[in-house]
Amino acid sequence: MEIKIVKEQRKSLMLKILSEDAILVKAPLRSADSAIQKFIDSKRGWIDRHLKKMKMLANFANSFDFDNLIYENAIPIMETKSLRLDYERLSERTRLKSIKNQYLSMFSVLKERTLQLAEKFRFKVDKILPCSSTVKWGSYSSTGELKLNYKIIILPQDLVDYVIVHELCHIRHMNHKPQFWREVERFYPDYKKARNEMKLYSFVLKTKF
Ligand SMILES: [Zn+2]
Repeated sequence: MEIKIVKEQRKSLMLKILSEDAILVKAPLRSADSAIQKFIDSKRGWIDRHLKKMKMLANFANSFDFDNLIYENAIPIMETKSLRLDYERLSERTRLKSIKNQYLSMFSVLKERTLQLAEKFRFKVDKILPCSSTVKWGSYSSTGELKLNYKIIILPQDLVDYVIVHELCHIRHMNHKPQFWREVERFYPDYKKARNEMKLYSFVLKTKF
């Protein structure tokens, strides 16, 4: 990891993550190198956590397989490959924004899949909308709006189906009582396994974009 140190007119030490392998430390003009090192060491845990998160995010964005997003019978996605970006050259904020735009541009696939499953399991769904959340993969409101977090596009297809089935079942049960889970199980027998696997992707859910 590269550590850039800038001494300038300031009162306290400041640390900023520049990229997946570089940090910037700003220090008051007369700071001793040992004090700066001590400061960096004290923030090591925080730095490692953030770098790890950034690396995971960049990795999954780069290895993102657009072809696998095309469900059978779903609307084909045009030109998605050309949307692949040179992530190396983008700042973290720009990266996240471009990932968000790519996800949103593919929302029609999720919508189509939801309609397919709704028809198959005989649910009547009025509105299917994308939403952004750091805590939920989807939601259903009593006003008839089924919302899917656009981040679910990164999930494997069977988990995407789990989220959709889960939200569809809320059309009949607006809670998480045993009857609700029985309903989920009818249409998605392996739901317990799916719920567990979803945890692997919680870092994406928790990332704001
Ligand atoms: Zn639920």
